[in-house]
Amino acid sequence: MPTTQAPTNWAGNITFSAARLHHPDSVDELRRIVSSADRVRVLGTGHSFNRIADTEGDLVNLDRLPHRVETDPGKSTATIAAGMRYAHVAQALHAEGFALANLASLPHITVAGACTTATHGSGSDQRCLAAAVAGLELVGPDGEVTRIGRDEDPDRLNGAVVGLGGLGVVTAMTLDIEPTFDVAQWVWTGLPLDRLDDSFEEIFGAAYSVSVFTDWRSGEGVVWLKCRTDLPGPPDPGQPWLGAHPANRHHHPVPAMPPLHCTEQLGAPGPWHERLPHFRPDFTPSNGDELQSELLLPRESASAAFAALRGLGDRIAPVVQVSEVRTVAADELWLSPAYGRDSVAFHFTWVPDHDAVIEVVAAMEEALLPLGARPHWGKLTTAAPERILSSYDRAGDFARLLAEHDPAGKFRNAYLEGYFPTG
Ligand SMILES: Cc1cc2nc3c(=O)[nH]c(=O)nc-3n(C[C@H](O)[C@H](O)[C@H](O)COP(=O)(O)OP(=O)(O)OC[C@H]3O[C@@H](n4cnc5c(N)ncnc54)[C@H](O)[C@@H]3O)c2cc1C
Repeated sequence: MPTTQAPTNWAGNITFSAARLHHPDSVDELRRIVSSADRVRVLGTGHSFNRIADTEGDLVNLDRLPHRVETDPGKSTATIAAGMRYAHVAQALHAEGFALANLASLPHITVAGACTTATHGSGSDQRCLAAAVAGLELVGPDGEVTRIGRDEDPDRLNGAVVGLGGLGVVTAMTLDIEPTFDVAQWVWTGLPLDRLDDSFEEIFGAAYSVSVFTDWRSGEGVVWLKCRTDLPGPPDPGQPWLGAHPANRHHHPVPAMPPLHCTEQLGAPGPWHERLPHFRPDFTPSNGDELQSELLLPRESASAAFAALRGLGDRIAPVVQVSEVRTVAADELWLSPAYGRDSVAFHFTWVPDHDAVIEVVAAMEEALLPLGARPHWGKLTTAAPERILSSYDRAGDFARLLAEHDPAGKFRNAYLEGYFPTG
């Protein structure tokens, strides 16, 4: 039975306008809901900060669909129920001796919700999570199930994976997997921000996944290194490194928050899914009381972006809880912010004061958009849709893909209409 109580997103800054919220417990029930609705969107775990998941029609949550994780060792893939959270998929894969290449900062989010916004982790050789998708199963507007596979139609798949929820309800996904691996995590404090600029490649090449946290005013950063134990080791934790010092206690990215919420550090090796995210699945990730924005730039713009952000440090620091710098490898997914270019990502966890924050986001975007910045699809931005889409070569192809999969606009909402107006 659908409910009519208006849900909010995880951060509580969005109240959805849906007339009904459904939790189907089978794909057949989902197909009936979709085929009889006028307007439908899926709500994942609601970890986006804008109206991307919203609708005035029927909102569908897939949390009651049966879990499914079927590995195919011959093809190095696993087919999973797309509404599952990464935490559950990762545990099941690890139990069978497999791993995903990378994870985001939190494992709480659904695989479909994360991939459709091009969610990413860090790693100079690591692409966004959606790049691991080898196939999708979608319930289309008439309730029919279609499959898009990399082997059959790689270009269409590249268009569909980061689909902003507009192509239909993704019920299953086939993901690339690899043998499971261990990761050890070290934190280094007191990195002079000048070193972040002049030793950028060395810092981000020092481990499989690297994050640098700062407020852009203190002149210092905290470096998190996630090192695969089967790859060459990290800097010697017995020595200072680039002016930073190894931490002798656990850290949380947000200085005021308890480190208990975070994955194990101090170099203790553990399975990939218990180290690659910053946050443990059974604790609140980040702060919970926050807003977020993020911009991805070509890696060659890193130095100019550092200068711009340090120039804005006195405006950023009073409203930021923490900012994180990561790297993301280039991919071919039409709407991925890392499409066609190795990228540096600037994430901001802000205080939950929309008016104060949005002024600073606007100032930052004015400085970084000319350097090629593309905003994260699931976070706050002040940039006009036309300006954002002008940096995506395949935006026109995506508009055609949307029209082909959903000619009557059943899966459209105001967010999508702002970027890809009907007709
Ligand atoms: C604390 C925190 C930490 C974060 N860390 C990172 C990070 O490290 N890296 C990063 O890149 N981002 C990060 N994010 C952003 C987050 O990964 C994205 O917003 C992601 O899209 C959230 O997934 P979700 O399951 O909550 O999806 P939702 O926010 O619920 O939905 C997002 C979109 O997916 C669509 N959707 C969901 N399920 C389906 C489906 N089955 N079929 C079709 N469409 C679907 C929705 O309609 C909507 O358009 C973080 C967010 C938070 C709150």
